Amino acid sequence: MRILIVEDEPKVASFIRRALEEENYAVDVSPDGNQGFDLAREVNYDLIILDLMLPGQPGLGVLKALRTAKVKSPVLILTARSEVDQRVKGLDAGADDYLTKPFAIEELLARTRALLRRAGGDPTGVLQVDDLVLNPVTHEVTRGGRRLELTAKEYALLEYFLRNAGRVLTRSMISEHVWDIDFDTFTNVIDVYIRYLRNKIDREHEPSLIHTVRGSGYMLKANT
Ligand code: CA
Repeated sequence: MRILIVEDEPKVASFIRRALEEENYAVDVSPDGNQGFDLAREVNYDLIILDLMLPGQPGLGVLKALRTAKVKSPVLILTARSEVDQRVKGLDAGADDYLTKPFAIEELLARTRALLRRAGGDPTGVLQVDDLVLNPVTHEVTRGGRRLELTAKEYALLEYFLRNAGRVLTRSMISEHVWDIDFDTFTNVIDVYIRYLRNKIDREHEPSLIHTVRGSGYMLKANT
């Protein structure tokens, strides 16, 4: 899942980025309201973390412009403790949640999981297809009850597949949601990672869950 952080304080931005990357999310950072708005329109982010006090354009303006432009990504706003009216305005302008600074990183991660879960319409948070199970809190992945050891990228790819089970995912959708802005689209990295992932989840198990959809991309689904 891919997340945009719009935050001008470098320390805060890199602190959040590191924590999210440790959770295997792909992360882009913008220090400026206008640039953040452009990115958020260009890329279909799974979540946008938006500071309200920003150079370029303030966060509230960015948020309103995004909702006017029909950008539906969930938005978590960051505000100072004193800015009660800003929080209210933010929620009314289409923010999905807020955090007041300073915040505990564990809380930001929990809210991130909650917003991704809500977007996926799944209240429990555990992702499952057939006997393949991924727990976003513990990062544990099992198939048929047996624990699978995945690398960070394999995990991110599997999480995206599971959140979109039964849907055909094109290579461009996969690169948009699993890799960050530095990804080179002219490589066959996606196919390589799909092969790695298949080796781990499908090679020693029946039925195969990752299907190639000729001419389109890939789909994760149970055979039944
Ligand atoms: Ca700021």
